[in-house]
Amino acid sequence: MVIVVREDASADERAEVMRLLSAQAGGSASVTAARTRAGYVVCAPECVPAAKLVRQLTALRAVARVVPAAAPYPLASRELVPDGTVVTVGAVSFGAGAPVIIAGPCSVESAEQIEAAARAARDAGARLLRGGAFKPRTSPYAFQGLGLPGVELLARAGAAAGLPVVTEVMEPGLVPAVAELADVLQVGSRNMQNFPLLRAVGRAGRPVLLKRGFAATIEEWLLAAEYILAEGNPDVILCERGVRGFDPATRNLLDLACVPLLRTLTHLPVIVDPSHATGRRDLVAPMGVAAIAAGADGLIVEMHPRPDDALSDREQTIDPDTLARLVRRCHAVRAALDHDTAGERGDVPEELAAGAGR
Ligand code: PEP
Ligand code: MN
Repeated sequence: MVIVVREDASADERAEVMRLLSAQAGGSASVTAARTRAGYVVCAPECVPAAKLVRQLTALRAVARVVPAAAPYPLASRELVPDGTVVTVGAVSFGAGAPVIIAGPCSVESAEQIEAAARAARDAGARLLRGGAFKPRTSPYAFQGLGLPGVELLARAGAAAGLPVVTEVMEPGLVPAVAELADVLQVGSRNMQNFPLLRAVGRAGRPVLLKRGFAATIEEWLLAAEYILAEGNPDVILCERGVRGFDPATRNLLDLACVPLLRTLTHLPVIVDPSHATGRRDLVAPMGVAAIAAGADGLIVEMHPRPDDALSDREQTIDPDTLARLVRRCHAVRAALDHDTAGERGDVPEELAAGAGR
């Protein structure tokens, strides 16, 4: 369960809530406090919200609300923030309705390449620029990225094009330096359960894009998000990027069912990466559109000004024109769904609603 504490509660009053819950949890260390989107909360995942305990808690002046979250990830669970979390990056909002498209190359390669990519991404309607500088490559002989100088090039290109930037960080020790330059920190699929890294990005004061591990269950993924939230960082965006399947026809198996499922389990925004999910550039746009139709809050897509020259992941990298078409289609799909929802609520003039039904 989670207890939302009143903003004006004193330190003593907060301690009283902790004491009561710790006694219930048998003095175990599982009672923690964190600042969240719902306010300051005390989190006791092992406490059963029995009627007597709920009565004792609600009698305390410090307690604003008792949330009987049953999930093992109480801070990420939908029950804590029923209306959903909106994560804001500059002027861009994830989870506010309009799909947000992030685009850019797999890797930052040079100033010229990332600047051209930034302009192309902006002109195509993308709202954030991506680019890896610390690359988690399967082979130690593959291009490893430019490191911090690459993050600097990315930040400069993003600023010139007016786009915030997102880049992967792999080591806890590098989090502060990358957070200086990047607007969003990406935790990659291979690091989804790198717990020291999750704690470090939880303290970095930047929104985090948390990719799903390619063999991770949804519960493991949400528990990874919980690590970040428990450090006091409320700005987590989940990213489905495909899980390992049996068929090498596609690089991974895109689990689109997780998008509407996560909507019921968590308040965090969810985006989809159709590039790593499919590994094929001809499948990126159709699966990107499908992700938005499934309710995703956005996409992250690999796009290069000259895809055939890309130093990494060129087979799944689309060109600027394909990106522009994809962005238009994503907005068209979302508008069609919003229109239909408005029709169901009766907000649409009768003649329009009748037309939509034909
Ligand atoms: C990436 O986005 O650059 C990347 C390496 O993705 P993933 O961690 O999903 O494989
Ligand atoms: Mn890539």
